[in-house]
Amino acid sequence: MTGSRPRNSQNQESEAPPSPSDKRRARTILKKLREVHSDARCSLSHDNAFQLIVATLLSAQCTDARVNKVTPALFKKYRTPGALGRAVPEDLEGIIYSTGFYKAKARNLIGLGRKLEEEFGGKVPETMENLLSLPGVARKTANVVLGVSFAKAEGVVVDTHVKRIAKRLGFTRHEAPQKIEKDLMALFPKSTWIDLSHILIYHGRRLCGARKPMCDSCPVNKQCSGPG
Ligand code: SF4
Repeated sequence: MTGSRPRNSQNQESEAPPSPSDKRRARTILKKLREVHSDARCSLSHDNAFQLIVATLLSAQCTDARVNKVTPALFKKYRTPGALGRAVPEDLEGIIYSTGFYKAKARNLIGLGRKLEEEFGGKVPETMENLLSLPGVARKTANVVLGVSFAKAEGVVVDTHVKRIAKRLGFTRHEAPQKIEKDLMALFPKSTWIDLSHILIYHGRRLCGARKPMCDSCPVNKQCSGPG
């Protein structure tokens, strides 16, 4: 790997907007990654926006594969926001136990169901502001729902894979998800924001793992300075 210098290494202290060459580099990397991960998409099983927001809340600190094992029983028992809002906490906890942090997740899911039922007519809202008003919903979950269910690019989903790869590829020097999201939004065209996170997530799962990135097989190893 040779790697051109990550843009933020030149501006450690300033928050200068990305230069045209930063943007060209980012587009080149995205194009190469898209070719390899052309099948990238949301991995959480769901049939509608309600199921997606529930699955995304459960995916905090948990793999999508694990969530997908839990949600069939969950969605069968609680088919609507109202039903979820009326859930007995212990019943819900028993179903979602294996996703971790089950008490907090159950509390948020019941609050989510109630609020959707009482304030949004049983529907998942389609705006960032309203989504962020829901229990347990932060920008990551809101961006997932807006992008996947409503095809609205309001921001970029920043999960653990996106965070790691954005840093390795020099798209950001930040640690905080909101700052990383801001850097990615400045660097990439809005039309790519939804796909971008899916592609980076797939890249993280397949090649650019946290412990053993497969740099020799990586399509962007010439643009990357490595795992650091
Ligand atoms: S796999 Fe290696 S070369 Fe590819 S993006 Fe990750 S750290 Fe960079």
